[in-house]
Amino acid sequence: MDNIPEYFGELVFDDRAMRANLPAKVYASLRKTIDEGTELDIGVANAVAEAMKNWAVSKGATHFTHWFQPLTGITAEKHDSFIAPSPDGGVIMEFSGKELIKGEPDASSFPSGGLRATFEARGYTAWDPTSYAFIKGRTLCVPTAFCSYGGHALDKKTPLLRSMEALSRQALRILRLFGNTSAKRVVSSVGPEQEYFLITKEMYDLRPDLRFTGRTLFGAKPPKGQELDDHYFGVIKPGVAAFMEELNEDLWKLGILAKTEHNEVAPAQHELAPIYTTTNVATDHNQLTMEIMQKVAAKHGLVCLLHEKPFDGVNGSGKHNNWSISTDGGQNLLSPGDTPYENAQFLLFLCAVIKAVDDYQDLLRISVATAGNDHRLGANEAPPAVISMFLGDELTAVLDAIENDAPYAGVEKTQMKLGVDVLPKFNRDTTDRNRTSPFAFTGNKFEFRMLGSSNSISCANIMLNSAVAESLRIYADRLENAPDFESALHEMIKKTIKDHKRIIFNGNGYDDAWIEEATEKRGLLNYRTTADCMPHLLDEKNVSMLTSLGVFTVDELKSRRDIMLENYCKSVTIEANTMVNMVHKRIAPAITSFTSELARQATEKRTFVPELSCRYEHDLVLRLSALTDEIAEKTDALAAAVAGLRDAPDVIGESVLIRDTVLPDMEALRKPCDEAELLTAKSFWPLPSYGDILFSVK
Ligand code: ADP
Ligand code: MG
Repeated sequence: MDNIPEYFGELVFDDRAMRANLPAKVYASLRKTIDEGTELDIGVANAVAEAMKNWAVSKGATHFTHWFQPLTGITAEKHDSFIAPSPDGGVIMEFSGKELIKGEPDASSFPSGGLRATFEARGYTAWDPTSYAFIKGRTLCVPTAFCSYGGHALDKKTPLLRSMEALSRQALRILRLFGNTSAKRVVSSVGPEQEYFLITKEMYDLRPDLRFTGRTLFGAKPPKGQELDDHYFGVIKPGVAAFMEELNEDLWKLGILAKTEHNEVAPAQHELAPIYTTTNVATDHNQLTMEIMQKVAAKHGLVCLLHEKPFDGVNGSGKHNNWSISTDGGQNLLSPGDTPYENAQFLLFLCAVIKAVDDYQDLLRISVATAGNDHRLGANEAPPAVISMFLGDELTAVLDAIENDAPYAGVEKTQMKLGVDVLPKFNRDTTDRNRTSPFAFTGNKFEFRMLGSSNSISCANIMLNSAVAESLRIYADRLENAPDFESALHEMIKKTIKDHKRIIFNGNGYDDAWIEEATEKRGLLNYRTTADCMPHLLDEKNVSMLTSLGVFTVDELKSRRDIMLENYCKSVTIEANTMVNMVHKRIAPAITSFTSELARQATEKRTFVPELSCRYEHDLVLRLSALTDEIAEKTDALAAAVAGLRDAPDVIGESVLIRDTVLPDMEALRKPCDEAELLTAKSFWPLPSYGDILFSVK
């Protein structure tokens, strides 16, 4: 496929398709809905549905679905065909405005955390016209939000749209104060860099742990891992290149701006980054990207692992959420401008982010919390669980100068005066030293690096948008009533720097000394696990901020906390059960067979040559037998810990037991198993080794 511009977006009912297929009046009114969020009347919806269907059918579609993002974190769809009976006994292809706007999936089995009483099994899906419909296979997919009949959000998209709305509202207030009368909306944009592993299907099928849990629960370190740093940006193997080529084509057809791809740090690890776009579209696209990665991999005899930590001792996979805010006119509000006035505005938005990240460290941590991601954060490969911000030396020096009314070296005046002095351009930091920061300023955007590879980016952006909206709300309240705008602005920026500079850290985030300084001296939060952070979703300050901005209701927050904790408990419990099962069915029998084979051979050798010592066999039988006993004991302990979960009073209690008993018991069981793997002949070991798996793709 050579002509990319020709097929780019061919499966998307995008602006081009709308223009070409809709009557001018219908197009104009839909465009207004998309751009300004105005309501759509049913006449227009009918016309759009008809055109959308004809377009989809002409491309081979037979079905439609409301595509949504329930709280399971993956996407859901239920297909209906377009056919409707016609009086002559045949069928016609039909799709009404009503079907486009609203769907009623029988969604009783999606998690709702008690929001949808089971007798009221049906929630409904509502079309999100800001994200284009697209064709997947033979199905027209209509991106939708998913709500209960009580009006509660049951998905990840509804609160995301609300948070974008809140951010826009507050940011516009600030822009008006700076004399901007033309901007109608402020939008947040995201470019998520997606990491993943590719292994062969053959290896995958031989590992029950990978199949059931997405990660290996056993496995000794291979003699060669990522020590040599020879994989990062290295030559892409032919099997991987073929996969990437097809993946790109599929993504481009769906209008997804897949841009860069390269090898990552670990063997078999890769990354794909798209060009950034509006946050809710970026979220839909990222969900689609993850799904298509897995499909394309299967076509190539490969499996794409999106788990945060598929291999112990090998780098895990994350997702970098590059985030910025801009006006509908395209002005990036996180980019220093050319005039002193623009600079003051930039500094205010920058301060809003600094304040937001400091005030809501807990929400940012919560937004990336899953059982899988807990293995990465703080493990010297991903940012620590402590949130801090990297601004770079230059920008930090500017803030210092403002805080202290001191001269800034880069400016000739004796004192930084907002609204008067021109700031230097902040070039993005080209060195690599900011890679360890969870939240880094990179010239005209922030890169939030704590997301796990399988996370929906929705949660992180809901919290980020909301927290920044809250800072802006506070600023706007003050500035709108200030007698002298400029001095009030100056004071406010100064105060933000003073109050929140503890969150700024330009050093090495992987350093243990930093964690100590952060928690002991600066009082920053360090929630190491999902069980630690998740209950804080309901802290008074968080509830008050999120509800007052209209992003969540109290009930929605309660249900989300419960669902996230349930997910955490369930995934770890499945892992624990898988371990117990693998020990009984595979690992212990393999060690026993190998041990008796050793003993048998030694006995045979001695019968043949009586004076032989057979020390090798003897010692190995002893060591492996000891390990088998230890494995048996640790397996029982783990099984007991899992059984003990039944006594937990509620999901919070259960998550604490998971953290304090099940997870440590899993680690304890893994150790003797991995040691036994190293001592057991390859022909006896029932699982492919890390080396086999990581170097399996040719
Ligand atoms: P890196 O060195 O981290 O790879 P890049 O400049 O290549 O940095 O960008 C990484 C990601 O950030 C890409 O997805 C890119 O589209 C996105 N990005 C660039 N500018 C912005 C912006 N203003 N807002 C949001 N994302 C952006
Ligand atoms: Mg990056």
